[in-house]
Amino acid sequence: MTFDELGLSQPVLQALDLKGYSTPTPIQEQAIPPVLEGRDLLGIAQTGTGKTAAFMLPSIDRLRNSDKQIPFKSCRMLVLAPTRELAVQISDSAKDYGALAGLKVQCIVGGTSVNKDRNKLHRGTDILIATPGRLLDLIDQKAFNLSGVEVLVLDEADQMLDLGFIHALRTINKLVPKERQTLFFSATMPKAIKELVSGYCNNPVQVSV
Ligand code: AMP
Repeated sequence: MTFDELGLSQPVLQALDLKGYSTPTPIQEQAIPPVLEGRDLLGIAQTGTGKTAAFMLPSIDRLRNSDKQIPFKSCRMLVLAPTRELAVQISDSAKDYGALAGLKVQCIVGGTSVNKDRNKLHRGTDILIATPGRLLDLIDQKAFNLSGVEVLVLDEADQMLDLGFIHALRTINKLVPKERQTLFFSATMPKAIKELVSGYCNNPVQVSV
C-alpha cells in the first residue's frame, strides 16, 4: 500500500516525500480513507504508531478542498492534546505537512504569555493545536471562539481525563458546531472514555492498532 493509493492529494504526497515516508503505517492505512470521506473516527492507538499523520494528512486534504476562509478569532481544525510537549510535537508535524498545502498552523499551551496567544489568534487560523485549559482561558476572555471548527481532534483522550480535563472537554463539546467531523484517539477505552466518545462522535469508524 502507498500513500498515493490512500487517496491523498499532490501537495500532501510531496510533503510526505520530503519527510522521507514511503509506506503508510497500519493506523494510517486504516484511518486515512474514512477520514477523507468525512467520517468520524475512533482510533485506539498508542504514541509511536503514526497516529499524528493518520489524522493530520487527510484533514489537511479536506481543508484544502473546501473553499471556506479562515474564520475571525476561530479555527477550521482544532486539535486538543493533554500536554505542552505533545501539542508542540503535533504542531511541528502540522507545520511540515500544512506548509505545502498553504495552511496556517498555530499552537497554544499553558505556561506561556496569554497576551501573545491573544494576538496570534486574532485573525484566526486554519489549524489550532491547544491544551484544553489554555484554550478555555482564551474563550473566556473572548479572544477566541469555536464557531468555525470543521474538524475536531482529541488526541490521547485518556491522558486528558487523567490530567483532570473532563469538565473542560464537556464545555468544549458544547461550544463546537454540531455539524463537524470528530477524530477521537485514546490508548485505552475505560468507561469514562466510552461515554466521552458517545458525546463527541457520530457513528465513528473504529480503528485499533
Ligand atoms: P506518532 O505516533 O504520530 O507520534 O508518530 C511516531 C513517529 O513515526 C514520528 O516520529 C513520525 O515522524 C514517524 N512516522 C509517522 N508516520 C510514518 C511513516 N508512514 N513512515 C515513517 N515514519 C513515520
